[in-house]
Amino acid sequence: MAETSSTHADRTGPLAEIGVIGGSGFYSLLDDVTEITVDTPYGAPSDSLFLGEIAGRSVAFLPRHGRKHHLPPHRINYRANLWALRSAGVRQVLAPCAVGGLREEYGPGTLLVPDQLVDRTKSRIQTYFDGEALPDGSVPNVVHVTFADPYCPAGRQAALAAARGRDWEPVDGGTLVVVEGPRFSTRAESRWHAAQGWSVVGMTGHPETVLARELGLCYTSIALVTDLDAGAETGEGVSHTEVMAVFAKNIGRLRPLIFDAVEALPETGARDCLCTTALSGLDTGITLP
Ligand SMILES: [Zn+2]
Repeated sequence: MAETSSTHADRTGPLAEIGVIGGSGFYSLLDDVTEITVDTPYGAPSDSLFLGEIAGRSVAFLPRHGRKHHLPPHRINYRANLWALRSAGVRQVLAPCAVGGLREEYGPGTLLVPDQLVDRTKSRIQTYFDGEALPDGSVPNVVHVTFADPYCPAGRQAALAAARGRDWEPVDGGTLVVVEGPRFSTRAESRWHAAQGWSVVGMTGHPETVLARELGLCYTSIALVTDLDAGAETGEGVSHTEVMAVFAKNIGRLRPLIFDAVEALPETGARDCLCTTALSGLDTGITLP
């Protein structure tokens, strides 16, 4: 771990307890930050970690696609990203992301805090426990983590309370279906997703969520609807420009909402959610950072 600024050089203990992974259109969180680069056994994360403080809580921000958005969803090194955050001390992650709405009532600007996830990705490594030796010689065992409830219940409540506190009535719960991308869905795919009762569609929620679980991290997805998905509207279908424009319009109110959610998260040592016990009693074969 190399620091490019010395602010935190003498610090002991974790560099950050809370991680925020910014999605499309969300490339910085705080103005006053210390930038550090982190290497991991899985290679480099999407970008540096940007360390700062919100309401006395230490926070590490990581732009999921890189600060210049050079990484498409299927090329993001999700394992490196979560590992890097954990090695900085992060134990709770807030993950804003841009999604398409699968129901007419979930139009642009809707904020949804999902409680379920469906994986429709195709090409992504989705585990740390694949039997491949790490550079330190340790070999991960086969581990099957519990994933029935993929999101942290405490983190969800913090996000929901933060949204309500900002007069942005959120949708409490729903299913995020994650597609491979980078293309958007066809109308048929989109109608099918909607017919399953799923709520919103995105491209990055998997394997990010399960990898967080495999590291015993609390993970909360905060989904901002930027468009109605192809099957839910009659126009031209989704365009990248449209997504970015809606995100840009909403980033001004998403940022303070994230601040409030950070403040509302439980103290690291006081967590009693299922995420913290995900690896209890399991012999992982590797030492988590
Ligand atoms: Zn949790």
